[in-house]
Amino acid sequence: MSKTFAIIGLGRFGGSVAKTLSSMGYEVLAVDRNPQRVQDISQIVTHAIEADSTDENALKALGIRNFDVIVVAIGDDIQASIMTTLILKEMGVNKIVVKAQSELHGKVLYKIGADRVVFPERDMGIRVVHNLISPNILDY
Ligand code: ATP
Repeated sequence: MSKTFAIIGLGRFGGSVAKTLSSMGYEVLAVDRNPQRVQDISQIVTHAIEADSTDENALKALGIRNFDVIVVAIGDDIQASIMTTLILKEMGVNKIVVKAQSELHGKVLYKIGADRVVFPERDMGIRVVHNLISPNILDY
C-alpha cells in the first residue's frame, strides 16, 4: 500500500507539497485554519479540511494519527508550529516533517521530537548554488 500524507499549513511550501503529492497519486489530507486556502486546494487533494492544528481535539477528530507522514508547513507563526508538532508527537504519529523559519526554530523542533526539519529557503539557496557551479548535474 502506498504512503498517506497529511499537510498542515497550505502556504506556498505546504501547498506545493500537497499538490505535488496529489499529482503523483498519493492520498493527501490538506489542513489549514484559513478557509480560503482550504477552498483553493479542495479540488486537487483527496480531502481538504479547515481546522486549527493547535487544537488537539480537532486533530484527533481528523484521524491524523492514521497518516504515515505529517508535514507541518506553518512558518510565520512559530508558536503554532511548535505546539502543533508537540501535539502530533504526543499523539504518537509515525513521521513528522516540519518547516522551520530559522536555525533556532529548527533546534526546538528537533528537541521536541520532529523526525525531519526542512528550511526551504536555505535548502533551495544551497541547491541553486550547486546547480550554478555544476550545471551538468541534474538535480530536483
Ligand atoms: P509559505 O512561506 O509556505 O508561503 P506563508 O508565509 O504563506 O508560508 P505561513 O504563515 O508560513 O504562511 O503559514 C502557512 C499556512 O499555515 C497559512 O495558510 C496559515 O493559514 C496556516 N496556519 C498557520 N497557523 C495554523 C494553525 N494553527 N492551524 C492551521 N493552519 C495554520
